[in-house]
Amino acid sequence: MNENSEIVINERWIVSNRGKKNSVDPRKPYAWLVEKERTISGEIEDIAIIFLTNRECQYHCLMCDLWKNTTDETVPVGAIPDQIEWALNQLPHVKHLKLYNSGSFFDGKAIPEEDYERIASLVSNFETVIVESHPRLINEKCLLFRNMLKPELQIAMGLETVNSEILLKLNKRMTLEDFKNSVSYLKQHGINSRAFVLLRPPFLTESEGIYWAERSIDYTFSAGVECCTVIPVRSGNGAMDLLLEKGRFTPPDIHSLEMVLEYGIGLNAGRVFADVWDLDLFSDCKKCIDQRTNRLVEMNLSQKISGTINCKCD
Ligand code: SF4
Ligand SMILES: [Zn+2]
Repeated sequence: MNENSEIVINERWIVSNRGKKNSVDPRKPYAWLVEKERTISGEIEDIAIIFLTNRECQYHCLMCDLWKNTTDETVPVGAIPDQIEWALNQLPHVKHLKLYNSGSFFDGKAIPEEDYERIASLVSNFETVIVESHPRLINEKCLLFRNMLKPELQIAMGLETVNSEILLKLNKRMTLEDFKNSVSYLKQHGINSRAFVLLRPPFLTESEGIYWAERSIDYTFSAGVECCTVIPVRSGNGAMDLLLEKGRFTPPDIHSLEMVLEYGIGLNAGRVFADVWDLDLFSDCKKCIDQRTNRLVEMNLSQKISGTINCKCD
């Protein structure tokens, strides 16, 4: 492909531009940590996150780098509960738990259904368990798992963007209707959902990125989600780096993340969080990056708009 040729984004192109996976152990989660989150009831509480090691997601979204810590094959029955048990022994006792598996919890090739019962029993002391899923994998399996659980189940799903042209280019293989129907199916069955929204996916300018992130937040709440997390898009998965090189993608600026979070919180429609990992990637200003990061963390926890930061980079 020469410099000027149009990039045709499809599954094959996305996968062929990947680098190597990290080496992972199917008997151990690849990460685990505790962070603070404002809960539905308004308390600020610790939440444990276990990043499970399992087979890579069957979808290959353009912006996703979660495949890096996955296996090629389905892990044996028993491996996922073993990972959870192992991580829980390392973690302090907290009330809430996220089980993130670099894909969809309800993808049978990632988490074997035979493991649901043991997983449910391992997490029975928690108040809340949050898992993630592609919207198209929301079905009666969610109810089957929920019915085994003592804690409340919440399900996080990526809307990514309400801009349907961009959504198509992201190769998410989902329509806006799919997302809406899944949220409403879960709601009908008493399960709260959370949404992920992207800030400035490829092919958008900074102002378009802000505009579409805000419209996406509007859409998730009108669909019925309880909580929404805004994720600034980054490169690092091969395909995104190529788009960056070709000028078709630019990471968003931290100022835009602040604006979108302010907008979302101001709606008073539900909790809105900004993803605050690696925020250095979204700022060139060493003077205010720490202050801006702290401001975002504070807004995440208070769900109130904190005082603005004045800096030459504004
Ligand atoms: S569905 Fe989620 S985990 Fe799977 S490729 Fe897309 S963004 Fe990544
Ligand atoms: Zn600055």
